[in-house]
Amino acid sequence: MKMNRLFSFFPIATCALFLFTGCENKSHVKADYPIQPVPFTQVKLTDNFWAPRIKKNASVTIPIAFGYCESTGRVRNFEIAAGTDTGKFQTIYPFDDSDIYKIIEGASYSLQTFPDPKLESYLDTLIHKIALAQEPDGYLYTNRTIAEKHGGKGLHEWASPIRWEMDSVLSHELYNLGHLYEAAVAHYQATGKRTLLDIALKSADLVNKDFGYDRVKVYPGHQVIEMGLVKLYRATGEKKYLDLAKFFLDIRGPKGRSYNQANLKPVDQTEAVGHSVRATYMYSGMADIAAIGNDPAYLNAITKIWGNLVYGKMYLTGGIGASGGNEGFADPFILPNMSAYCETCASIGDIFFNHRLFLLHGQSKYIDVLEKTLYNSMLSGVSLSADRFFYPNPLESNGQHARQAWFGCACCPSNVVRFVPAIPGYIYAVTDKELYVNLFISNEAKITIGNKKINITQEANFPWDGKVKLTVNPESEDNFTLKLRIPGWAQNEALPGGLYKFTDQDAEPVKLMINGKSADIIITEGYASVSRKWKSGDKVEIEFPMPVRKVIADDRIKEDREKVAFQRGPVIFCAEWPDNNTGNILDLVVKKNASFTTEFDSSLLNGTQVIKTSGVQTKKTLDGKIEMSGEEPVKLIPYALWNNRGAGQMMVWLPTSPQSAHPQPARTIAYRSKIKASKLTSALNSINDQAEPANSNDQSVSYYHWWPDKDKWEWVEYDFEKPETISKSKVYWFDDGPNGGCRIPDSWEILYLNGNIWETVTPKAPYKITKDGWDSIKFDPVKASAIKMKIKLNKDYSAGIYEWVVE
Ligand SMILES: [Zn+2]
Repeated sequence: MKMNRLFSFFPIATCALFLFTGCENKSHVKADYPIQPVPFTQVKLTDNFWAPRIKKNASVTIPIAFGYCESTGRVRNFEIAAGTDTGKFQTIYPFDDSDIYKIIEGASYSLQTFPDPKLESYLDTLIHKIALAQEPDGYLYTNRTIAEKHGGKGLHEWASPIRWEMDSVLSHELYNLGHLYEAAVAHYQATGKRTLLDIALKSADLVNKDFGYDRVKVYPGHQVIEMGLVKLYRATGEKKYLDLAKFFLDIRGPKGRSYNQANLKPVDQTEAVGHSVRATYMYSGMADIAAIGNDPAYLNAITKIWGNLVYGKMYLTGGIGASGGNEGFADPFILPNMSAYCETCASIGDIFFNHRLFLLHGQSKYIDVLEKTLYNSMLSGVSLSADRFFYPNPLESNGQHARQAWFGCACCPSNVVRFVPAIPGYIYAVTDKELYVNLFISNEAKITIGNKKINITQEANFPWDGKVKLTVNPESEDNFTLKLRIPGWAQNEALPGGLYKFTDQDAEPVKLMINGKSADIIITEGYASVSRKWKSGDKVEIEFPMPVRKVIADDRIKEDREKVAFQRGPVIFCAEWPDNNTGNILDLVVKKNASFTTEFDSSLLNGTQVIKTSGVQTKKTLDGKIEMSGEEPVKLIPYALWNNRGAGQMMVWLPTSPQSAHPQPARTIAYRSKIKASKLTSALNSINDQAEPANSNDQSVSYYHWWPDKDKWEWVEYDFEKPETISKSKVYWFDDGPNGGCRIPDSWEILYLNGNIWETVTPKAPYKITKDGWDSIKFDPVKASAIKMKIKLNKDYSAGIYEWVVE
């Protein structure tokens, strides 16, 4: 049996090879990606940046994630489905089962680096509960199994009384299973135990029996089962699972919704559209079929989609999915910063996708995107303390964003749990004659090239320093080609395709030394190749110049015009409130040619590089002009480290002109008031920030909303600093129709506080309700200590406010 090849894609405990008898007589995998990653179990990190994070994932994130699965009822759902407990479905979403699977997957990876008998035995208990919740024919979906115990009552509205029937809409039956399959392979490889794998295979065999061209022909509403089935295929060698993965892609679309990429058949798709997590999971599944199935139609599609995504729909941080309304992609170049969705899961999905494209093509541009996402948009998803998470990862904040301990929809923390321990698996990859070095992170690795064993030691201080030293120790002298990635940022490329560019194009040359002697660098496909007969102790040193580079965006990105960002190595920087005098960040303006310095601050945020430059603060005056302060210092920190010191203002793209800045609001009555509202959220201070939207659905400007409440009265109130005589008020409504849940309200009215009594004002004309513009009301002057606006929400929709002005 060619087991080494079979299992080389993912790590496996050696003993498990022999325990796993289920595939002995099966035909084995003939084809896989032409380049194979070196599994993370073969790569021991010795660095100060990632290793502590992976350790904290094990000691902090995994325990709290399982804790939330227990306290929220996710675990109990399995117990009730199993009949060992009674009650109704305990949680909100039918996909809540998937969180447990993802955390088991993460815990399984983690066990391979940090053996933990207690954790392993907890997994055994959980898996036993999952086994009992599985129906006799292999069906596993706690919501339906529980509902059936109550005569069908409590079946989620997203599911049909008939199994699978509503999966292409929202039931998430296949979505849960995709994560189950990934978890099962991870758990089997980590422990050698077949318990979860047997549950997965029983389930997959049912899916294989139920679905087919002449049977149930429903495509998954949320993709991921494609990747999960490919993992089952690799683990068992059973081609039926690979065929089933391809079936789910082949039957998708056309004429479905672009929201879940069913608007066209996947092979005909050329654009990244819709929900970005669904999208990247599907593109990863398509890459698997392109590579393993050697399918040119799928290869052609993902190549085009990648270009569409990276050349027009990616943030500088590597984040994707600009729009919150569909949790996904907007049109090309629509990349607002404050409302940037950039879901943590989408960053992880995009890393999966780019890694697969690299394994297919061996081109470094895919790792350039992967590395940028890894160090910025993905890493921002989890706090330094490893117990707080971002769902969206915006590039600008007015203080309304904060990482949370957990979410009702917990996809992001559970994705962090499973992604972080696998990071060392992205460093190296091999063919029979080549070793790719993709990421620069100190580690000791045991690598097999062809059938030769090689130990590699990498010493680096990334991402703070550009020097990398590799010591190559082959078992015996050996010919192979070392392929060193020369990142785009070490040359003159901020992002493949030119959506973002460095303001200068004068990168210093990368230096390469072999055994102390300088060597020429010839770059092909983004790699410098060193071919030689390697002997023990051979040393390769690379020095990537790592100056601070200023970045500008393609002019078609409206939000980034007349702005500049700072990058050093793969790390994007931002200005955050605690580091800058007044805490006001959004009103900053820096000179395009401002000078700067950079240094390592060991006392800040567990030790980090900072950039120091200077700028001015801008302020609106009551007569509408913009006033500028004198020059003052501006300090920048890595974007991924923001919001570790409390919520406040943050900005990645720094304005270079007062016109592109958000000046501090003028000291109007509203600005000097205390705001109260019927619903208190951190977005409340949007209503007096004097940021005017371009229209009622301008996602670049922050707003306050009551979603999901509807069909009721709500209110906002300004308590004045001192009694004021007022006679005019105006409001700008938020309305994210037709896709979102907010519309202009049915009606509104103004009241004022006269002594202790709220009285209505006497308007000079009827109240209007306008979309895409101001609604003004003039009334008989009154002396008031506070003003209140009452808003009647539509029967079917919620409402929101951009700005509310009082004069
Ligand atoms: Zn998520």
